[in-house]
Amino acid sequence: MNEAYITFWGGVGAVTGANFCLEIAGKRILVDCGLLQGTPEALLENSRKFDYDPSTMDYLFVTHAHADHIGKIPKLVKEGFRGIIYSTEETKALAVLMFADAVHLMQKGETATEPLFDETDVSKTMSLWHTIAYHKPFSVTTNLSVVLFDAGHILGSAIYKFVYTHPAGKITNIVFTGDTGNSPSVLLRDTETIADAHYMVLDSVYGDRNHEERDLREQKFVSAIREIIQKKGTLIIPTFSIERTQVILYMLNNLVEDNVIPSIPIFLDSPLAAKVTEVYRQFSEEFNRAVQKDMDGGDEIFTFPKLSITWSRRESQAIHKTANPKIILAGSGMSSGGRVVDHEASFLPDPNNILLLMGYQAPGTLGRQIEEGAKEIVIKGEKVPVRAKIEKISGFSGHRDSDHLVEFALESAPTLRQVFVVLGEPKSSLYLAQRLQDEGVKAMYPERGKRYPLSL
Ligand SMILES: [Zn+2]
Repeated sequence: MNEAYITFWGGVGAVTGANFCLEIAGKRILVDCGLLQGTPEALLENSRKFDYDPSTMDYLFVTHAHADHIGKIPKLVKEGFRGIIYSTEETKALAVLMFADAVHLMQKGETATEPLFDETDVSKTMSLWHTIAYHKPFSVTTNLSVVLFDAGHILGSAIYKFVYTHPAGKITNIVFTGDTGNSPSVLLRDTETIADAHYMVLDSVYGDRNHEERDLREQKFVSAIREIIQKKGTLIIPTFSIERTQVILYMLNNLVEDNVIPSIPIFLDSPLAAKVTEVYRQFSEEFNRAVQKDMDGGDEIFTFPKLSITWSRRESQAIHKTANPKIILAGSGMSSGGRVVDHEASFLPDPNNILLLMGYQAPGTLGRQIEEGAKEIVIKGEKVPVRAKIEKISGFSGHRDSDHLVEFALESAPTLRQVFVVLGEPKSSLYLAQRLQDEGVKAMYPERGKRYPLSL
């Protein structure tokens, strides 16, 4: 067999909904099975049946535990998938938390669709799930193995390199990047590079933009905190439970312990983020050298004075009555639900408060409306005037920017036959594909549902 095929069932024309199928060595392999996020139409799409029969798939490889890469896995199992699921150990540990949270939200009716799956589907899913370590070649089937590299995006994130060995000995490497990190990351090791990819499925959230200077990101973070102290207001930070929360806690820990900022009340108002932080603590050997050094010195890097974790709704609501200045970290990161929305309803009308956006805001989300300067938003049917100051720091993004994506792909320039640019808004993916073409690398923005042949 001299051919393989890739089909992009999701994650094209959008950042979210990663779902790719590689047909190779007589097997059908899925890479990621994520939720679409953002617009109401996108959310409704999630309840549609899969475009393929899940029972015909042999394997599912999971790059990392973000919902837009794993959120539909229990639905895949519910609809017949009986193959083996593989990921790193860290990804599996985080996925368990993400699924439990999703089931909880769906049961409470806090989602746009009918429940996509339940606890039974989740436990069936976890019974199919095995783990693979970074860097240890793992034999998938005859002539096909896979090696995992550190993607440096969130804890446990992996770049998959599938290695096909032709019976005559020739090798073809097919790389799925998942999401590549914005290295150097505050907590994680740098994204590893791949120098011998023949085919590459490359992410492109920031394919058309570069991030601001790294020094600037911490300066802006510190000055937002100083400003809130001076104004005696509330600083709200909508945070993603995985990675961004832990990065912010670690920075706050250092700022408080080094006396860069005075100690003020800080609330981590997200039970999910608090549980994820526990998993981060458990796998702290995966952090970069600088963080390891802090920990060797005996520092509990996610714990510092005046940090409160609010578990119950009652505790969450009580935050409103506490004295200013204060900082609230709450999910969801794009203000598309969760406790942060209640805080926004209370605090956005007051010009003394600051809302700090530290991550990607998908089109159609409340976060995107605020980012684009809406003067009035609607929360739970009520009009809310936006008078608080809106600040944005893009440098903490967990995603690589345009220059660094190009650099990453070019590492494999001598061997690359084709790059498929995915996981971005169309203008971002198209721009990155063009940049790669300009560098002499064959790159394209694939069509959803089309089966692309790869020569082996
Ligand atoms: Zn991600």
